[in-house]
Amino acid sequence: MPLSFRVLGGPGDDNALFVAVDTGQRVSRLMFDCGDGCPHALETGDLLGMDHLFFSHFHMDHVAGFDLFFRLNFDREDPAVNVWVPPGGTEILHHRFRGFQWNLVGSNQRGTWDVHEISETSVRTTRFHAREAFRTPQTIAEQPRTAVIVKGEGFTVEAYQLDHGCPSLGYIVREASRVNVDTDRMAARGFSPGPWVKRLRGEPARAGEMVAIKGSEYSLAQIQGELLVTTAGESVAYLTDFRLNEATGEYLSARLRGVTTLVCESQYRAADVMLAENVMHSTSVEVATLAVRAEIGRLILFHVSARYLPDGLGELLAEARAIFPNTSFPDGWRVRASS
Ligand SMILES: [Zn+2]
Ligand SMILES: [Zn+2]
Repeated sequence: MPLSFRVLGGPGDDNALFVAVDTGQRVSRLMFDCGDGCPHALETGDLLGMDHLFFSHFHMDHVAGFDLFFRLNFDREDPAVNVWVPPGGTEILHHRFRGFQWNLVGSNQRGTWDVHEISETSVRTTRFHAREAFRTPQTIAEQPRTAVIVKGEGFTVEAYQLDHGCPSLGYIVREASRVNVDTDRMAARGFSPGPWVKRLRGEPARAGEMVAIKGSEYSLAQIQGELLVTTAGESVAYLTDFRLNEATGEYLSARLRGVTTLVCESQYRAADVMLAENVMHSTSVEVATLAVRAEIGRLILFHVSARYLPDGLGELLAEARAIFPNTSFPDGWRVRASS
């Protein structure tokens, strides 16, 4: 599977999401939030090779595990460490960078960190260097904001601002469409594999371009139309810590339409909607209703309140399933089913 993901942390604990996109040529690693124990659940190699770290917001349960990530990567030079943050996040990260004794750091340290702060209208990138103990923030770019914030190899990442009393960013990772050769149709035409297949799978045909197959010439455009099959890529959305009211539901359902998997906070049961209102979180029923409205494939509930442990989570899940049947908790969560 080119796109794979794993929810980190257990029920009632801090949670985060790890996503890997494997094109066959390269594996890209993405992490969403960095709560207590979350990076610790990954292999060191995945942490050292992390291409992007995305924060929803900076409440403590989303950043408490950051020290391990920073410890492993503070001196990473190439590629620079890319971190994506909501408004005000650059200043918070700067304080964390500076919260250590750096007297052993010298000019031979090469670590470079690029912090991309996403506002409603722009993305501002600030660079920090380990060689000067992360002292001086240096603005290196400011670009107008677009929905897609990262174009990686074989995937894109979009960011959307949600309301949690403070800005909280939701993200969608979309794998690029896959183009495959229909080998049954190829066989039916009597074509055998050869060097021409590489050209077939490459760029679209230029006007009038021909391709030689078993000594005969064919229109490449026609052969590509006959033999290539495009399959939509997988997608996973990560939404956490936000109040899912009517306006937000409408806003999100348009953007999530057709997403394969939605990993979404479900902090409270429906009966506790007043608690959700008070602390700007969402309920199981609200989240499942969004899943129906957006016509997503599969819903995974996470970031649940510890108040429902040990026995209340089965009911929370059942409430969501009554509305959107293809709902589950993350793999590995042992939750007693409701009777
Ligand atoms: Zn929060
Ligand atoms: Zn939280």
